[in-house]
Amino acid sequence: MTQTIGFIGLGNMGGPMAANLVKAGHRVTGYDLAPDARERAAGNGVAVAASAAEAVAAAGTVVTMLPAGRHVLDAYGELTAAAPSGALFVDCSTIAVGDARVAADLARVAGHRAVDAPVSGGVAGAEAAGLTFMVGADAADFADAEPLLAAMGRRVVHCGGSGAGQAAKICNNMILGVSMIAVSEAFVLGESLGLSHQALFDVASTASGQCWALTANCPVPGPVPASPANRDYAAGFAATLMAKDLGLAADAATASAVPAELGRRAAELYAAFAQDEGAGLDFSAIITTLREGAA
Ligand code: NAD
Repeated sequence: MTQTIGFIGLGNMGGPMAANLVKAGHRVTGYDLAPDARERAAGNGVAVAASAAEAVAAAGTVVTMLPAGRHVLDAYGELTAAAPSGALFVDCSTIAVGDARVAADLARVAGHRAVDAPVSGGVAGAEAAGLTFMVGADAADFADAEPLLAAMGRRVVHCGGSGAGQAAKICNNMILGVSMIAVSEAFVLGESLGLSHQALFDVASTASGQCWALTANCPVPGPVPASPANRDYAAGFAATLMAKDLGLAADAATASAVPAELGRRAAELYAAFAQDEGAGLDFSAIITTLREGAA
């Protein structure tokens, strides 16, 4: 069924996601602060509004894809006032669990419904409608959001109530950040022991060291031709985004009094890396700093 959607945040992820909603036959009105993002969206069939409020004025569903929690909370003030009563608010940005719950409360207090639905899959997944959505919502709101999310992704998982989607996202990315460091340390140790990259890969990829960081995003060139290591670590999944997600995980661990010692250490290493030589690179490039430490 055709829906009227207001889409706020038409950047690297939001742009192609909005385009996929248009392709699925929905009426999408979008807004972004950046003129080039607005132009690209217009080229993909999105009706571009003059303001965020105008974009959602007739929307049954409001999708946000913004950089961080403060952008979402700022925008929700204006959006919840402008959208028609009972609109379904779907925030796909990666933000703190606590911020997601505050955003959902803002929507509900204004007479709307709310879902947090962060994604995994990156820009390639957004373009190919191949994202995984992790959803925090009650059962009725999840049922309403699911068909729209399915038009932008391949998998839609209901993780629990408000904030549960964000919780799943940061827990998953904590696994990924820690495992990328573990894989990188193993390659650096292997190098110093005279082990070839291919030999370590052939063993670990079919043994108990197997994981996505090794078999899909291998941090050394060679064994996995499609991994960013083969193209000078062009992202991929940017180190800055990994640093952001690990920071959210570390903050959540502190708030919940969970030690998460490796997750916190990974957050520190990625924060330093993303600020320095890792800015703009894929997160697997952290192996270069770990190797420098070894030398
Ligand atoms: P981006 O910076 O490319 O896009 C964000 C867009 O929001 C920008 O175009 C910006 O102009 C716009 N914006 C900011 N404030 C606004 C406002 N008040 N009103 C309207 N537009 C506004 O970022 P992105 O890569 O698209 O990421 C978006 C979110 O998705 C982030 O939370 C990120 O952590 C998450 N995410 C990104 C990836 C990825 O690979 N890029 C993967 C998974 C999740």
